Amino acid sequence: MNNIPYGRQDINQEDINAVIEVLRSDFLTQGPVVPDFEKAVADYCGARHAVAVNSATSALHISCLALGVGKGDIVWTTPITFVASANCALYCGAMVDFVDIDPDTYNLSVECLKDKLVLADKVGKLPKVVIPVHLCGQPCDMAGIHSLSRQYGFKIIEDASHAIGGKYKDEPIGNCRYSDITVFSFHPVKIITSGEGGMAVTNDAHLAKHLQLLRSHGISSSIEEMQPRPAHEIWNYQQIDLGFNYRMTDLQAALGLSQMQRLDEFVSRRHLIARRYDQLLPELPLVTPWQHADSYSSYHLYVIRLKAGETKKTHKEFYKALHAAGIGANVHYIPVYRQPYYEQMGFKAGYCPEAEQYYSEVISIPIYPGLTVAQQDHVVQTLRMIFIE
Ligand SMILES: *Cc1c(COP(=O)(O)O)cnc(C)c1O
Repeated sequence: MNNIPYGRQDINQEDINAVIEVLRSDFLTQGPVVPDFEKAVADYCGARHAVAVNSATSALHISCLALGVGKGDIVWTTPITFVASANCALYCGAMVDFVDIDPDTYNLSVECLKDKLVLADKVGKLPKVVIPVHLCGQPCDMAGIHSLSRQYGFKIIEDASHAIGGKYKDEPIGNCRYSDITVFSFHPVKIITSGEGGMAVTNDAHLAKHLQLLRSHGISSSIEEMQPRPAHEIWNYQQIDLGFNYRMTDLQAALGLSQMQRLDEFVSRRHLIARRYDQLLPELPLVTPWQHADSYSSYHLYVIRLKAGETKKTHKEFYKALHAAGIGANVHYIPVYRQPYYEQMGFKAGYCPEAEQYYSEVISIPIYPGLTVAQQDHVVQTLRMIFIE
């Protein structure tokens, strides 16, 4: 059997045609398809504004900037995430800190957040922004986080890189009911793809304007935004802020827009695969992903945990045995503060005990729309054999 990755894109002929159409058009970038894609995502999520960029990493960076994160500020996130959720604070010259995870959902724990806020308040070190991450596509307890944000005055960026197509309390993730900004990723392993790409959605018109400015050099061509100058000095643009080239191309947007048509289908497929794992795996000494009643996950990842003491195999042996069988299992994630770069900043092993326990047991097994029944059976059979050996 060919190698089975933990996740992969699903591209059909319509996706290909959409990209070809842009190639034959007048604009490869900064044409009409980026705003079309933005509108499709905003409408889908029920958010007022959407700003497309070249990655979720860029979206996180300019979202922090737009919320005023800078030197002297602190941003909090979960340790169980991709490094980009934390790095965005460092890009702005701010500090980052980590809140331990919930033992059931593996998302940032609202209990731990509350305790940490009480302590931080006493020493005057409250976070400016908190970045909850909807791990695997399962939404965080956003109502709980939002209520704490009211009490302690921090802003919220939802890192929904895993979670487009998911729902929280029956509403689409990305409607920003409980946050200032929500960020999506369209990397090929995620739910829908534009090759590389990301988007920030918000209901705040000022934030949206600021995000648009920051994604393209801080340059504006809107007369209202330009600084007053003598008429002969006013041309068609001015740089009024320090921004970046974080733009999405029309080629990417065409792929993303075409993929939007199948978003619900992709997520349904992922649910079928997850349900099948849920049925087939409990006979093994594993913990399958628990789902909160408020959650409709997009199932970007399917993570299993080895039950401590119930198998002789180590975590590493497990990982190696899966790879030996052609299964591209992965670990999502090493706690961010355990990365050498973060350890150099002074973070110590053991900082978030629940996150480290999770990390020592977790493995992501393949889940993506094109995974066949035969491939899934191979994954399950391989897991059975690992425990028997
Ligand atoms: C993939 C991912 C990112 C970064 O996305 P890019 O589009 O690759 O920059 C950020 N946060 C999380 C949680 C992710 O999984």
